[in-house]
Amino acid sequence: MDLGIKGRTALVAGASAGIGKAIAMVLSEEGAKVAVLSRDKERITAAAKDVANKTAGEVLPVVCDVTNRKRIDAAIAKINSRFGVIDILVCNAGGPPMRRFEQMVDGDWDAAYNLNLKSTIRLCAAVIPAMKKQKWGRIINITSIAAIQASETLILSSTMRPGVHGLTKSLSNEFAQYGITVNTICPGYTNTERLVGLAAATAKANGVKPDRVYDGWTQNIPAGRLAKPEELGYLAAFLASEKAAYINGVALNIDGGFIKTI
Ligand code: NAD
Repeated sequence: MDLGIKGRTALVAGASAGIGKAIAMVLSEEGAKVAVLSRDKERITAAAKDVANKTAGEVLPVVCDVTNRKRIDAAIAKINSRFGVIDILVCNAGGPPMRRFEQMVDGDWDAAYNLNLKSTIRLCAAVIPAMKKQKWGRIINITSIAAIQASETLILSSTMRPGVHGLTKSLSNEFAQYGITVNTICPGYTNTERLVGLAAATAKANGVKPDRVYDGWTQNIPAGRLAKPEELGYLAAFLASEKAAYINGVALNIDGGFIKTI
């Protein structure tokens, strides 16, 4: 199936590793020009090289902290001048720390808001005017199964990310008339650096080995395994495609069946 995104410009945030990098890889394989964005110059340059080498695509590394509005504006200007209008936006960044309610200090809430909700608002605000003008756009917001099923240890995620779902739905209503779709992907347990960190934190909190933590997770996943990052990439690429024009305003779990609600 031809996804119809050859020559389109994509911006993938949080793309030096994990899910973001895997999405960038698949979009590049499909022929999109991809700007990969992250905070650390060395890591994002290495990720861009890796994606370009493996896909023979055009990949632009962009150094930017998505919690900083001025840096987002500068990043968008850089991408526009190199690749033109951003057709596909993937809003992604690191997840908030694992902490229970009573372990939280006031600033933790602000940090999670800036990282996981405000950054999405700002990235959307930066790209929508040009998408609207050209009457085509795809926005894909990455959240978590913790936005669907409340978590007491990832309470920051369960609190901030439903806001991204509300934003997604509102934007999808308003901008569908301009050929723009806005959807959310909710990853389940996915084999990335973040999960290694979460396993270590959970193991420490419970006084067990990380292997036991992984076993506990996979026992609750009907598929019996973690997601591979590239599986998130395939879903994102489909949502970004010409073929997905009628999928709008949805939140898709990709979790091997972990979420049990109907
Ligand atoms: P990861 O930690 O492996 O990668 C995160 C990426 O975002 C890295 O490239 C990092 O440099 C970048 N980043 C972090 N903060 C940033 C900032 N302020 N500005 C710009 N870039 C920033 O994470 P991942 O596992 O790939 O997860 C991606 C998203 O999906 C996270 O929000 C995570 O919480 C969510 N998620 C992951 C899982 C999982 O099992 N891995 C499950 C559910 C949800």
